[in-house]
Amino acid sequence: MERQTVSVRRSPTYEREAMLEAVRAHFDAFGGVGAFVRPGDRVLLKTNLLMARAPQAATTTHPSLVWAIAAAAREAGGLVCIADSPGGRYTKETLKKCYRISGLEQAAQSAGAWLNFDLGAQQVSFPEGKLCRSFHLISPWHEADVVFSACKLKTHAMTAYTGAVKNCFGLIPGLEKPEMHFRFQQLPAFAQMLIDLCRCAAPRLTFMDAVVGMEGNGPSGGTPRPLGLTLCAENPFALDLFASDLIGFAAHEVETVRLAVQQGLCPERAEQLLAVGEDAAPYRCSFERAASGDVTFSSRIPGPLQKPIKRLLAPRPVVDAARCVGCGECAASCPVQTISISGGKAHIEKKRCIRCFCCQEMCPVKAIDIRKFRGFQI
Ligand code: SF4
Ligand code: SF4
Repeated sequence: MERQTVSVRRSPTYEREAMLEAVRAHFDAFGGVGAFVRPGDRVLLKTNLLMARAPQAATTTHPSLVWAIAAAAREAGGLVCIADSPGGRYTKETLKKCYRISGLEQAAQSAGAWLNFDLGAQQVSFPEGKLCRSFHLISPWHEADVVFSACKLKTHAMTAYTGAVKNCFGLIPGLEKPEMHFRFQQLPAFAQMLIDLCRCAAPRLTFMDAVVGMEGNGPSGGTPRPLGLTLCAENPFALDLFASDLIGFAAHEVETVRLAVQQGLCPERAEQLLAVGEDAAPYRCSFERAASGDVTFSSRIPGPLQKPIKRLLAPRPVVDAARCVGCGECAASCPVQTISISGGKAHIEKKRCIRCFCCQEMCPVKAIDIRKFRGFQI
């Protein structure tokens, strides 16, 4: 496989001018913004707008990076639409709240971009998919001449890591996302669906906000972790290989990376990529994993005992009643409807839980913990 390029820029702060400089350098690494955007092109800027959180929480792509990409595309004559379908209900009210709190409202206004309020979605066929051969994607994707993705570097309770490839999941409207979790309950199938989706969505460039990432119980319940970089690549699979390696994840720990390597979508090792710009070596670190990390230990247990022991050891979501405000966001996101709200608190019926951790992801007050079996610890 030919070497694939990842552009690396030192970006210690979210200061707007510095961010614009970094974005221009990223574009230049791939032939300049004009190689992607012609005057009059409709540009979709797909950001990570998981939920209504302030930028400093490091849950969503920072508005300064979104602003800078939009400003650069506008300079090239593009008509920029900023869009994402957050978790939970896909309504104008939800979008409005998310745009306002995440800082995107202001970013769009000053970059001369517009925010998507079209709640439509259409089917697109993708015959090349290994597992999924069609997707139902939000309207701005269908209307775009060029798609740019602006993702956030984070750990993830279900997929271990989230960055370029998983950012495309937000092209699926609202509560159809939990339906996908229901259809693809096992991690390998879910990861394959994400790979097919990313290939179908085909962002021309993916920018990654790694100025401040998130470690621990990401993608929303973790802790902000400064890294001081922005990254960019044409190949989102290569970008994920590079970024996950940078924060200390082996390729086999991240199912989307493992499958992408297996399917020849990126090289086997990050060293085989061509990194341009800043030397990333001094930034190498180890992000704390989400508590839900898979239980490989049980594979060494005799066959008949594996299933019950795996069930016992598997991490599961637990509601912290003291923090729960009874908003119902978790119940709305649960693909198997195993959460009820009574007495102003959420209750999870353990037996039916498929451990997708959508509830933990969507809880606005971090009231859902991921609990592991502690019985064998000393
Ligand atoms: S656990 Fe979180 S999301 Fe669920 S009802 Fe309580 S506060 Fe809302
Ligand atoms: S309770 Fe939470 S982890 Fe379990 S299936 Fe529902 S959303 Fe997924």
